Amino acid sequence: MGSLLLKNARLLDMVGENSDIKERDILVENNRIIKVEETIDVQADKVIDCNKNLVMPGLINTHNHLAMSIFRGYKDDKSLMDWLNNAIWPVEDKFIEEDFYWNSYESCLELLKSGTTTCNDMYFGMKNVVNAIEDSGIRAVVSWCITDNSINTKPEETIKYAEKYNHDKNARVRVYASAHAPYTCNPETVKLVVDLAKKAETGIHVHLSETLDEEKQIKERYGKTPTEYLNDLGVFEVPVILAHGIHFSDSDIEILKNIKGGISHNPISNCKLASGICDVTKLHKQGIKVGLGTDGTGSTTTLDLFEEMKTAAFLQKQKYMDAEAIKAYDILKMATIEGAEVLGLQDEIGTIEVGKKADIIIIDTSDLRFTPENDIATTLVYAANGSDVVTTIVDGKVLMENRNFLFSDESEIKEHVMQNANRLL
Ligand SMILES: [Zn+2]
Repeated sequence: MGSLLLKNARLLDMVGENSDIKERDILVENNRIIKVEETIDVQADKVIDCNKNLVMPGLINTHNHLAMSIFRGYKDDKSLMDWLNNAIWPVEDKFIEEDFYWNSYESCLELLKSGTTTCNDMYFGMKNVVNAIEDSGIRAVVSWCITDNSINTKPEETIKYAEKYNHDKNARVRVYASAHAPYTCNPETVKLVVDLAKKAETGIHVHLSETLDEEKQIKERYGKTPTEYLNDLGVFEVPVILAHGIHFSDSDIEILKNIKGGISHNPISNCKLASGICDVTKLHKQGIKVGLGTDGTGSTTTLDLFEEMKTAAFLQKQKYMDAEAIKAYDILKMATIEGAEVLGLQDEIGTIEVGKKADIIIIDTSDLRFTPENDIATTLVYAANGSDVVTTIVDGKVLMENRNFLFSDESEIKEHVMQNANRLL
């Protein structure tokens, strides 16, 4: 890959507790950041003049279903269980192999174009999803979603891919095990996923406490909360990524205080499906890590983490009727280093520091919406959006420059997704 030099950056490195901007040059060698200094004068294979634009770590999306791009705008405005049963699951059953590839590729480009450099995906048909991740250049954690209905088909895939990727420190892909949710996985299925995670020496990605309906179902079936149900089956003995995490009791939070990993808060999906509000403020007070996620396109409509940041901030302020319930910089951390902690990747990504993988975005701050720039953290959370991102670098490779993809053909991918939508919807 060679070397990449970013000149004249206004750097928001997301290290520490303040949003001070430093004027820096950044040198990348292969996939890692090797120097961050006031001036670096070396011959590099590629030089980008940042022109005093803002440079920050790529954003981290901690919960996604990449292949659901096809469902953008499809049968919206339904509650979760109605939407899954009557809109989504009947179409997913008709997916053919290449649908997974092209739909996921579109999502990868949408993520990269709006500044996300790492996503955490859970779905089925993951072989083709992984191919799309590899071809697009994005970084990802992936998991083969297991439910009671698919229990016999997926386990060996998780082991095979975990062996391929999880021990290679330069791989862009990491593999988790996955149980879909407490309401789609009986105790036998959950236990199988726990065993699978232990065997593959990895963690578990699972939807948890998304709706009151889920809580009711699990209490009726097992006489416990969804968190107690998973805890009793050993899920929290391995690192976890818990998507949504809305309806936790105080005793659930006592259990969760000891987990490795954390919660993926998906504010727009939760708003759109009227699922409730994740109590980020309370979770943070207990030391539980919370990252941001979009969920799939069907329930979110776009994969722009800037929109999620703004919504997450507003939801906490409204929930507590307190404008100080959460600060903009805390939200930025959730979208970067705290998201990395939820995924167990905090030593690799989430900040711009020497030794870390080079996942970097450049944001054009010349627009009216950035003028004047009194506080960069609040400007990014409350004023910016994904289309302000001009350049996206993952693993030291410039994937998008001046909003053009260098290695992917956006028109071709759109064409395939439109054909898939015509056939399936
Ligand atoms: Zn989800």
